[in-house]
Amino acid sequence: MKAISVLGSTGSIGTQTLQIAEEFPEQFKVVALTAGKNIALVIEQIKRHQPEVVALSNTSLLPELEQRLKALPKEQQPNKFPKLVGGPDGLNVAASWESADLVVTGIVGCAGLLPTLAAIRSGKDLALANKETLIAAAPVVLPELKKSGSRLLPADSEHSAIFQCLQGTPWAENARLSTGIPTPGLRRIQLTASGGAFRDWPAKDLAKATVADATSHPNWSMGRKITVDSATLMNKGLEVIEAHYLFGIDYNEIEIVIHPQSIIHSMIELADSSVLAQLGWPDMKLPILYCLSWPNRLETPWRRLSLTEVGELSFRSPDNEKYPCMELAYAAGGIGGTMPAVLNAANEEAVAQFLNEKISFLDIPKAIEAAQRNENL
Ligand code: NAD
Ligand code: MG
Repeated sequence: MKAISVLGSTGSIGTQTLQIAEEFPEQFKVVALTAGKNIALVIEQIKRHQPEVVALSNTSLLPELEQRLKALPKEQQPNKFPKLVGGPDGLNVAASWESADLVVTGIVGCAGLLPTLAAIRSGKDLALANKETLIAAAPVVLPELKKSGSRLLPADSEHSAIFQCLQGTPWAENARLSTGIPTPGLRRIQLTASGGAFRDWPAKDLAKATVADATSHPNWSMGRKITVDSATLMNKGLEVIEAHYLFGIDYNEIEIVIHPQSIIHSMIELADSSVLAQLGWPDMKLPILYCLSWPNRLETPWRRLSLTEVGELSFRSPDNEKYPCMELAYAAGGIGGTMPAVLNAANEEAVAQFLNEKISFLDIPKAIEAAQRNENL
């Protein structure tokens, strides 16, 4: 039985992780949860999973959570009342909770960094969904991993695909668990991208793109920030940097390929030019489950892939003019140091402003570029 702490339990990654825990009650138990503002959902999650500790990012909501839990009818109350904590310290408590074996990082944005570091410093293994942590602070995170021996298992579907492909190589025994050290024999990574919400829009129409347009993804159902990142293709740019740090591979050996069906989740090319791929329906439950069960595979009743049903797998090069965010990410990654942190912070702010209808869709890359130029002054 593996004990799990779920950071960001009310989000897309968090709720899918809890669904997996419910599907495999013999394998996984949830001991810690953290959430933002969705108290009603947290209460449902407490009733179902009986965690030992629950953290809310906003301390002022703790009294309401406590009152509402106490007001539940007797038969719905948790067997043991969880410890309730709040604020940044509270998130760190849940992230380093003693009985947890593995921490799923489903907080969105740089807000996930300090809890992730707390988990690493207490020696927990991690299922890394919160890619922003690595983009913003890999030079801090990687040495901490080395010190504590925590293992970083990629939950992002592309990096999970790469990680899964690496299990089938002669170096599987010591396949690097994300220490940023070059993986022997790994020559190239091909990261697949669905193309996001505007894949089939002519570039000239992007000036009119609304929040509603940018938050409807053709293949994946995800939180709002990452859905906008997919629409700008910044998500893929961030994933290039994530892959560089996870697998220790040079930027010029990481290629982005548009693959509209999202069936091949990424590919690795080995020294002898052989290419390995991992395939599946676009469903985040699979990469999350692999983090939880690794190095084992659990039997699932999930819908099996049928290539004849998919019919066609197609590929094309990304359009850098239509989507400048990819090149901004390669440039920031190539400079290294704190530049990926600048890129990430500027992107978070620009996406938040776009979601609040303060700037237009095409202003997002402009704002990021401006931030990068200032850093160089
Ligand atoms: P989401 O918006 O659905 O959920 C975010 C969660 O974080 C919620 O529980 C929210 O309450 C919590 N949260 C938000 N701001 C917080 C703060 N300041 N402090 C503490 N908690 C806070 O996001 P998501 O789509 O689940 O994405 C989570 C992370 O996983 C992101 O880093 C994203 O890039 C990554 N990811 C997501 C998917 C996906 O399919 N959703 C796929 C790959 C990677
Ligand atoms: Mg991804």
